[in-house]
Amino acid sequence: MTVKLYDTDPYGIEFDAKVTGVTEVNSKRGYILDRTLFFPEEGGQSCDKGTLNNLNVTAVNIKNDTVIHFVDGFLNEGDSVHGVIDWDRRFRNMQCHSAEHIFTGLVHNIKGFNNVGFHLSDNTATMDYDGFLSSEEIAELEVRANVIIIENRPIKAEYPDSETLKTLEYRSKKEIEGPVRIVTVEGVDVCACCAPHVRSTGEIGLFKVISSEKYKGGVRIHYLAGFRAIEDYEERLSALRDISAVLSAKPGAEADTVRNMLDDNKKLKFELVNVTNRYIETKIRNEYRDGSRFFLYIGGADEISGIDYAAKVIRGLVDSFALFLGDDESGYKFIIESDTTDTGDLLDKLKKRYNAKCGGKNGSFRGSMAISETDIKRDFSTMESTFGAGNE
Ligand SMILES: [Zn+2]
Repeated sequence: MTVKLYDTDPYGIEFDAKVTGVTEVNSKRGYILDRTLFFPEEGGQSCDKGTLNNLNVTAVNIKNDTVIHFVDGFLNEGDSVHGVIDWDRRFRNMQCHSAEHIFTGLVHNIKGFNNVGFHLSDNTATMDYDGFLSSEEIAELEVRANVIIIENRPIKAEYPDSETLKTLEYRSKKEIEGPVRIVTVEGVDVCACCAPHVRSTGEIGLFKVISSEKYKGGVRIHYLAGFRAIEDYEERLSALRDISAVLSAKPGAEADTVRNMLDDNKKLKFELVNVTNRYIETKIRNEYRDGSRFFLYIGGADEISGIDYAAKVIRGLVDSFALFLGDDESGYKFIIESDTTDTGDLLDKLKKRYNAKCGGKNGSFRGSMAISETDIKRDFSTMESTFGAGNE
C-alpha cells in the first residue's frame, strides 16, 4: 500500500520517496514507491505526469491501493527517488474535477439525477447523468455553477470517522470498504471521491458546457473549466474574429451575414440553372436538322447540371437520341433513348467497350462513361440507320 501524498497535500509538487517494489504489467516495468504525489488513473480521470529522478513518468496505475509508476528509463528496488509532478496539468485536472462536483451537486439537488459517468483526460471532459436535461436546463445549471464559483466557497476533502460517516448523506457511485474520503463543496455537494481538488470554488474561475447529447437514456455533457475553459474561449473568439474579418461582418452580425450569403447563393444557383437551360436549348435547336429521326448532341461539362432539361428538349424534337455532356478528361454523362431499337445490345457494348456505368429500361438508359468526343462521334453519329430507322 502506497502512502498517497496527493490525498492530503493536493498542492504538493515535489516529494522524495523510496522504490519499494518493481513489478511487471503488460510486459512493462512498473515501480512501487513508499509514498507518492502522483495521482493514478482512477475514477475516470487520467493520471498525473511529471518526473521521477528526471525520468519521464509515462503512466500511473493503482491496484489494491498500491500505486504503480511507469517511467521511460530504469530504476531499481531500494533507489531513492525525487519526484516532481507536472503542476500545470494537475491543477487543470483539479479545476475540471471540482467543477464536475459543483455541477453534479446541482443536478442531484435540483433534478434528482445521478452522475453515472465521468471522463477527464487531456482532450475530453464529460459527465453522464441518468436523466435527460434540455439545453435550457443545462444553461440554467451552468449559470448557477458559475455563481457558486464566484462565491468562492470552500472545498474540503476529509476522512470522517465511521460514526459520522453513518449519519452523512453523500453521493457515491459504489460501495466503499474501509475509510471513505468525502469531498464537500460547501452548501452544494457531498461526495465520496479519491481525486485532488482545489481549495475553494473561486480557483476554478470559469465553468462552461460545450455541448450535450442524449446518452443511454440520460444525457452526456461535454464541458471545460478553469484554464482549459479560458483557453477554449480565446480560441473560439479568435476563430470568430477571423470569420468576421473574412465576411467583413460586424461582431455579432456574423450569422446574419452568412444567412444573407446563403440566400444570395440560392438565388444565383437558381439563376444559373435557368441560364444554363436556355443556353442548352438554344444550342440544341440550332444543331437539330428538321426531319432527322436520330439526334446526337454533345455538350460541355458546364452543361451537366442541365442534362434532364436537355433530354426534355430533345424528346420534343425526336424519338431517338444520344445525349452526351462532359469532356474527354473526366468522361461524359449520357442519356440514350430509342423507341424503335432494342437498346439492350447497345448497353452491353458500351459497358464492355467504355466501362460504362448505366441503368434504365423501356429503351431509355442513362449513366456515365470514359469516352472521347472523337469516339462518340464515330460510334454514334452514324447510328441513324440502326437507331433512327430502327429494326422494323
Ligand atoms: Zn470526484
